[in-house]
Amino acid sequence: MERRVLAPTATPPDAAERRRAKGVVAYPVESLPPFDAAFYEAARGGMKKVTETIVPPRDGRAFTVPGGHFFRIVCPEGSQVGDLNLWNARDLSERFFSGKTRALHATHVSTGDRLWSTLPTLRPMATITHDTLAWYGWDQDGAGVHDVIGTRCDPYTNLLLTGAEYHHCCHSNLSRALAAELNIAPREAEPHIHDVLNVFMCTGFTRDTHQYFMKASPARRGDYIEFFAEMDLLGALSACPGGDCSASHSSDEAACHPLLVEVFRPTAHTLAQWRPPAASGYSRSHGAG
Ligand SMILES: [Zn+2]
Repeated sequence: MERRVLAPTATPPDAAERRRAKGVVAYPVESLPPFDAAFYEAARGGMKKVTETIVPPRDGRAFTVPGGHFFRIVCPEGSQVGDLNLWNARDLSERFFSGKTRALHATHVSTGDRLWSTLPTLRPMATITHDTLAWYGWDQDGAGVHDVIGTRCDPYTNLLLTGAEYHHCCHSNLSRALAAELNIAPREAEPHIHDVLNVFMCTGFTRDTHQYFMKASPARRGDYIEFFAEMDLLGALSACPGGDCSASHSSDEAACHPLLVEVFRPTAHTLAQWRPPAASGYSRSHGAG
């Protein structure tokens, strides 16, 4: 389908030639240290579970993960999408940068990809070390799992599009979860809420209109995605009111399930060579001398 244009423009005679320009990957990542599968596999080999947090359906919970520990987000009952926020536990101004993670890796992330932090630090906050849905890949609709393209369902967009108030969107669930963790009001916590990793969510862009679409999550009971915390992390997770996001969100219509966050401590000697990543070394002069 042609792009819908409200004010049509004349197609130039060399339109075909312009469209044939070759795409290049915007951010080649070959210069980054490669995913050290042997290191992470050794560390996760003898790990022991130290804490777990249950996130009730249509609600959110915060959790902490010490740097050098692993954490898993698990589907303990039925198919369920989760919206994840991450902060540097020592400095909430450093938080997960969904947009740059997308630019550096892909629209959807899996084992070996890193979750990057915001400017000016821009460093890995967590590395994905296992994903039971890695088999899914890209389907016939171009969709994948664990997206960094959606933002999070929120009551403002819902009000804009439906005229109704709904209080259990992921944005609100995350706001309440962080507020409870920090012992502050949800309104104070809200500015810390940011674009998420949509755990277990299956999404893509429609081929004809390039609109964001979702389809039933392929996650089933027991599926999980596992991360290595590259720094001390504060996390918040919302069990999306969309459930498996097969039909709707931002309402109480979908069947919803809990999510589980498990934190694991590896055997200490496996981390002997590990150091938390350094913050970006950019001078921050921005050309101003
Ligand atoms: Zn949601």
